[in-house]
Amino acid sequence: MSKPIVAIVGRPNVGKSTLFNVLAGSRIAIIEDTPGVTRDRIYADVEWSGRSFTLIDTGGIEPDAKDIILSQMREQAQIAIDTADVILFLTDFHQGLVDADAKVADMLRRSHKSVLLVVNKVDNFVKDEAGVYEFYNLGIGDPHPISAANRTGIGDLLDEVLKDLPQAQPDEMEDDRPKVAIVGKPNVGKSSLINALLGENRLIVSDIAGTTRDAVDAVVKHNGREYVFIDTAGLRRKNKIKEDLEHYMIVRAVTAVERADIAVLVIDAKEGVTEQDAKIAGIAHERGKGIIVAVNKWDAIEKDNSSVKKFTDRIRNTLSFMPYADIMFISAKTGQRIQKLYDEIDTVLDSSKRRVATGVLNEILSEATAMQQPPTDKGKRLRCYYMTQVSVAPPTFVLFVNDKKLAHFSYMRYIENQIRETFGFKGTAIRILVREKK
Ligand code: GDP
Ligand code: GDP
Repeated sequence: MSKPIVAIVGRPNVGKSTLFNVLAGSRIAIIEDTPGVTRDRIYADVEWSGRSFTLIDTGGIEPDAKDIILSQMREQAQIAIDTADVILFLTDFHQGLVDADAKVADMLRRSHKSVLLVVNKVDNFVKDEAGVYEFYNLGIGDPHPISAANRTGIGDLLDEVLKDLPQAQPDEMEDDRPKVAIVGKPNVGKSSLINALLGENRLIVSDIAGTTRDAVDAVVKHNGREYVFIDTAGLRRKNKIKEDLEHYMIVRAVTAVERADIAVLVIDAKEGVTEQDAKIAGIAHERGKGIIVAVNKWDAIEKDNSSVKKFTDRIRNTLSFMPYADIMFISAKTGQRIQKLYDEIDTVLDSSKRRVATGVLNEILSEATAMQQPPTDKGKRLRCYYMTQVSVAPPTFVLFVNDKKLAHFSYMRYIENQIRETFGFKGTAIRILVREKK
């Protein structure tokens, strides 16, 4: 089951970032080798009372541009409506209600989404209580007073959020059809690729049960197998919202990748690979999803013998945190290698669900540690006792050692490479959890 999405919406300075940081707490995953992905804190995973969700800051409003604040807020609210299961509408107790709040509240009400009205900066719950009642005037239900700065009211708010989160749908959980998200910057050819993939075989375009988001998924039958392409509506929505907002691009990618088994990152051959591509790829990497890099518009560039190598080198360099991803050169326009893309999707799915036997795994481990001695620190050497695979998608291993502190990143990378050399795991991240065994 994919994680539900909770989005924060509100005017500049009402405390969105402060609340975001409080909710995200220390749980923001900083993946050291994924450059720039989590540092800008557009999204974070939050856990509360045994449930988890992805929190999104729809942010991106320029506080100085007074005349355009409302239009930007509408845009921000639209992003939340499109992508979130629950929307936190944040207001400011000190500033009170302003016109823009009322307009955005109308918009949220009409969307029929779960909206929680949050009044921030209620720094004194007793003294400020009466003032909070004013916020009933927005007509979107009970105001929930908090002070993000003092971290008060946060637990109650999270309890309310959990009540509104969709329950896991049995349908969706049992749905074992491959789910594929096509992601990438604007104009790289995502919609064209979807059309090429669907071809004549399109079955239905439908809302998938179990999500409260405005996502439209397309189902296609290919070689007797059904595939679900995630949120194809988001791809067609371009004129409604400025898709070139980097912020929006990331939010959209996070919500699509969250629900997918595999992300196909589309890169424009005419433009080459960019840092923005790395950010999008990083989302799939962090979330342990399968990934395929598809260099599109391959028909449109002049090629010689070294073109593939040059592109490959540049992509490997920019996406250095995911050497395991295959790179394909395709054309949505001419249909070049679209069939192979399906084969690649199958391959990546298989590897993300592969289980390896503990016996073989430990043979690899002892060979690996014999070939390259584990590191030492102050005379103490890392000992790797044994290893076992605990889950799939992404394949996750637990390695038992004498002392976690000795298990340096570079040595774990080495172990990972040894595992990959034997078992492949093409196109999927793998995780190695290190545990101490006394
Ligand atoms: P954003 O623009 O909505 O992201 O707002 P920020 O999180 O940057 O906060 C704007 C200002 O409000 C900052 O100066 C915060 O320190 C302040 N602030 C945030 N939460 C609270 C609160 O609970 N009480 C008070 N008094 N100030 C707060
Ligand atoms: P999106 O914004 O990522 O969904 O991109 P679109 O699918 O709308 O494509 C953007 C532009 O690139 C359109 O003008 C397409 O016709 C063009 N395009 C898409 N794929 C290809 C391709 O494989 N080759 C060429 N030459 N143009 C393409």
